[in-house]
Amino acid sequence: MIVLDGKAVAAQMRAEIRAEVENIRARGGRLPGLTVIVVGEDPASQVYVRNKERACAEVGFASQVIRLPETTAQERLLGIIDDLNADPAVDGILLQLPLPRGLDTQKCLIRIAAHKDVDGFHPENMGRLVQGLPGLRPCTPAGVMELLRRYDITCAGKHAVVVGRSTIVGKPMALMLLEAHATVTVCHSRTPDLGAITRQADILVAAVGMPCLIREDMVAEGAVVVDVGINRTEAGLVGDCDYPALTPKAAAMTPVPGGVGPMTIAMLLANTLTAYRQHSVSRF
Ligand code: NAD
Repeated sequence: MIVLDGKAVAAQMRAEIRAEVENIRARGGRLPGLTVIVVGEDPASQVYVRNKERACAEVGFASQVIRLPETTAQERLLGIIDDLNADPAVDGILLQLPLPRGLDTQKCLIRIAAHKDVDGFHPENMGRLVQGLPGLRPCTPAGVMELLRRYDITCAGKHAVVVGRSTIVGKPMALMLLEAHATVTVCHSRTPDLGAITRQADILVAAVGMPCLIREDMVAEGAVVVDVGINRTEAGLVGDCDYPALTPKAAAMTPVPGGVGPMTIAMLLANTLTAYRQHSVSRF
């Protein structure tokens, strides 16, 4: 079985992005800038934000984190987003979720200018994905596609099964696989006999958040398995797939950790660079 090594591919992508940033610096250009906003003290969010901060520093972006107290009022947060939208040094704005209770997530996300929405969650970017137009794509499914591409795994003509239909992973994942000419089936919590469908998959993407949901008997011999799930258990971080049991059967599979997770952050950097390029072009 081939291990789809997201950690290694993400490191390669960061090196490529760093080289491009070095070129910009050498030419005396403005550096790409990402601003992350985090509200409150959610411990998982603090870890995610630190990882993003570290990745930005590694590639040489001019980045900042705005840390706001739990008690931040909706209007103040919207005001900060408006200021960042207007700031020419800021190419990407990321609002770390979840927001504390009392703040309206949708209202805040939609306020981020679509061309700075490096998370790809803005309805305009989602609409562009649906219509097959260029736009900023959600980082996790875009990271999965990039990982498949770099391992020369083609999607055209394959049956791809996506388990999970969330707005941030499952739905955009299905659309991206469709865009890559796969035949796509989406399963979710109301799907009866999940195994009967997952067994038909040439490419199986699990994005649910349930350890060992995908067992050995639910996967076809030779399938490519992408495990998006991140579950904290007593045994440490695990995905949605029973990794040891699937190993003899799958042709290729992502580990957890070290699979899709690092690719998500690499795609955030790639999206920021894409936004930077668009902003640089449109300014001339
Ligand atoms: P979510 O809770 O929003 O969505 C879960 C989906 O799973 C839902 O669409 C639901 O219908 C489906 N589901 C629930 N029970 C099911 C069942 N028994 N059978 C089939 N489908 C079922 O979660 P999400 O935000 O999409 O995240 C999914 C998982 O991916 C989580 O573990 C999350 O931590 C992880 N995640 C990882 C990354 C990464 O970078 N690796 C990024 C985002 C999310």
